[in-house]
Amino acid sequence: MTVHDEVCGMDITPEEAVAKTDFQGTTYYFCAERCLLRFEEHPGWYVAIKPGSGCVEK
Ligand SMILES: [Zn+2]
Repeated sequence: MTVHDEVCGMDITPEEAVAKTDFQGTTYYFCAERCLLRFEEHPGWYVAIKPGSGCVEK
């Protein structure tokens, strides 16, 4: 199973994720601290693009 790093677009496994955060009841994983920081600056922006992306569920 892989998760999508919403900031940089990488697919990673939760085990190799360096950082994670909960936003609106969903856990988001990131490949680097700097991706987490960018997400936390604009979480709504990264989450808002999700419904149209169509490649989130794996
Ligand atoms: Zn990343």
